[in-house]
Amino acid sequence: MSRRGLDVAVVGGGVVGAACALSLAKLGLEVALVEGREPAHWSAGTPDLRVYAFAPDNAALFDNLGVWDSVRGARAQAYRRMRVWDASGGGELSFDADLLGRDQLGWIVENNLLTDRLWAALPAAGVRLHCPARVESMEQDGASTGTGGVRLRLDDGTRLETRLAIAADGADSTLRQLAGLQVSAHDYRQRGVVAFVETGKSHEQTAWQRFLPSGPLAFLPFVEGRSSIVWTLPNEEADRVLALQDDAFDRELTRAFEARLGEVHAVSRRAAFPLRRQLADAYVSGKVLLMGDAAHVVHPLAGQGVNLGLRDVARLRNAIADAQSRRADWSSPHRLARWARECRSENAAAAYAFDGINQAFSNDDMHATLLRGFALGMAGKLPPLAALFWRKASGL
Ligand SMILES: Cc1cc2nc3c(=O)[nH]c(=O)nc-3n(C[C@H](O)[C@H](O)[C@H](O)COP(=O)(O)OP(=O)(O)OC[C@H]3O[C@@H](n4cnc5c(N)ncnc54)[C@H](O)[C@@H]3O)c2cc1C
Repeated sequence: MSRRGLDVAVVGGGVVGAACALSLAKLGLEVALVEGREPAHWSAGTPDLRVYAFAPDNAALFDNLGVWDSVRGARAQAYRRMRVWDASGGGELSFDADLLGRDQLGWIVENNLLTDRLWAALPAAGVRLHCPARVESMEQDGASTGTGGVRLRLDDGTRLETRLAIAADGADSTLRQLAGLQVSAHDYRQRGVVAFVETGKSHEQTAWQRFLPSGPLAFLPFVEGRSSIVWTLPNEEADRVLALQDDAFDRELTRAFEARLGEVHAVSRRAAFPLRRQLADAYVSGKVLLMGDAAHVVHPLAGQGVNLGLRDVARLRNAIADAQSRRADWSSPHRLARWARECRSENAAAAYAFDGINQAFSNDDMHATLLRGFALGMAGKLPPLAALFWRKASGL
């Protein structure tokens, strides 16, 4: 059977790459997905420590892809409120779904569950899967003008020729390097310690975050009364906390959270991931695009890492659908450049905003402390300001 030529090759089948492959296949494009590892299957008995505060606009994207009901039906904890406060500056900020006239602000979902459901939908959408396979080399004609196609060679010997190649292969993207796209990076010298915990009091379907001079500590509500914690700490502190005996860890965590939810008891292993800000200088080189962590890595304090990546996907899908409706060339250089410009400016603004918040809150300086208390107090007293902020963060 002869097949149409490939329109898009997506490299990297994490949440962003798999959602991108599925989105573009559903627009009728011929899509291949190249992934280096067999994707981890989700199972209810072994929760994935990597959880996301999933924003409503991305839930709508998944709904459009036909996978949201399956994710929600498996395990997604809605959260209705958010409480943010400062260890030393006073002031507390709260957002409530009621303020926005919504049932919830978002959902807490596991990374493995999202990829599991996306991958399950790929074959029926006609996506050609190359897994396990990694990109080894890339050539493109007319890279400077964006007029030629892209040729990829995979480590299993397969050669792919495609109109467009998308790098969604994570922070250390190989395809980004092959395309010669540079990044600017800043190491926060912090790590995010993650675990599941039980708490003495109910989490009240609320995402809690306390800012400490060492970094923010978040408790995200999960199912069966558990919470998922993300405890940002300087590298050495993170190593120390990871090595603590269970009861000592519970005690330190309870204290760091001011026992706001009562006694805390960890019910999973602990893990930590390094934190950096990393922004690609450009998102497009000829017919190679970057998205997700390949294009931008941000501080997790606002839970936006994967949300920003999925917004890259939604924007590309909209740009291509718009071109198709006008019978225009969906991969024209100016269309790709406009997509790249819009994504890059949104993502850079978000990355630097999180940077500013991290810097302002992660220190003991008296002036910074006073300013924080004032800022949180003001925002807390001005519901429209809080609502505006939330709408921006949730893509509404
Ligand atoms: C332990 C951990 C916890 C995190 N917790 C949070 C959190 O609480 N909140 C938050 O917002 N963010 C969090 N993040 C960040 C978040 O996971 C990322 O923003 C998100 O995963 C980005 O998705 P992605 O699909 O762009 O990249 P990735 O998830 O990194 O996926 C990239 C995929 O590409 C594949 N790949 C890599 N190289 C190649 C190659 N050469 N060829 C083919 N395939 C390749 C990889 O196998 C992988 O499947 C966490 C990250 C980690 C590591």
